[in-house]
Amino acid sequence: MEVTQNLEAQGEIISHLRRGNRSRGRVHVSDLVLCLRKSYLGQVHKVPPTEEEMLFWLVGRGYHAVLEDYKHPSEVALVRDDLAGTPDQVVLVNGQVVPVEIKSTRQSVNKNILENFWWLITLKAYCYLCSTTLGRLIVLNIVGDWKDITPRLRVFDFRFTPEEVQENWDWLLARKQLYLSSLEKQTLPPLEKTPAWMCKSCVVADYCKEVP
Ligand code: SF4
Repeated sequence: MEVTQNLEAQGEIISHLRRGNRSRGRVHVSDLVLCLRKSYLGQVHKVPPTEEEMLFWLVGRGYHAVLEDYKHPSEVALVRDDLAGTPDQVVLVNGQVVPVEIKSTRQSVNKNILENFWWLITLKAYCYLCSTTLGRLIVLNIVGDWKDITPRLRVFDFRFTPEEVQENWDWLLARKQLYLSSLEKQTLPPLEKTPAWMCKSCVVADYCKEVP
């Protein structure tokens, strides 16, 4: 038997994934939740995602596709104040439309869910877009607790206060303003405190380091 690793076929698959990961036109909640500088640099320099990013995206997409099929997918972006957001699903709970965010992660299942503050920012934004204070988060820990690598699936319901939802939206609108004005003036947004994992694999890190 002869085995050959087919690099050409691998490259075709990655290119195909990149084509399916095109950016959106309107500013989206996900552009604003974490590092504004990364969103800005990605937009200005049109740097394609790394192969690693594409493969994580692929794992997430597969899981999303199955779960979105199970309930009501929400492929349509909801828009308020010219800011778009696309909940992965919307479900009805006691007659109320509830947005659902689906996440897959290599984090240990033992990590406190609240530490993923960016997930909560997104969920609160989707609550605002759906005019509700109830949001649902579905989390797949793909490597369990790292000792036992059996995947674990958990579902969390968050009941926010109206003030939390409104404050979160106002904060995002302020960031949208900063983002758009940076793009217009071609000036880099200020450096922010960003999770270490994000900088570690950041595709625009070289551009970012040039300016403090
Ligand atoms: S290296 Fe870190 S701070 Fe700089 S753009 Fe990337 S994620 Fe943001």
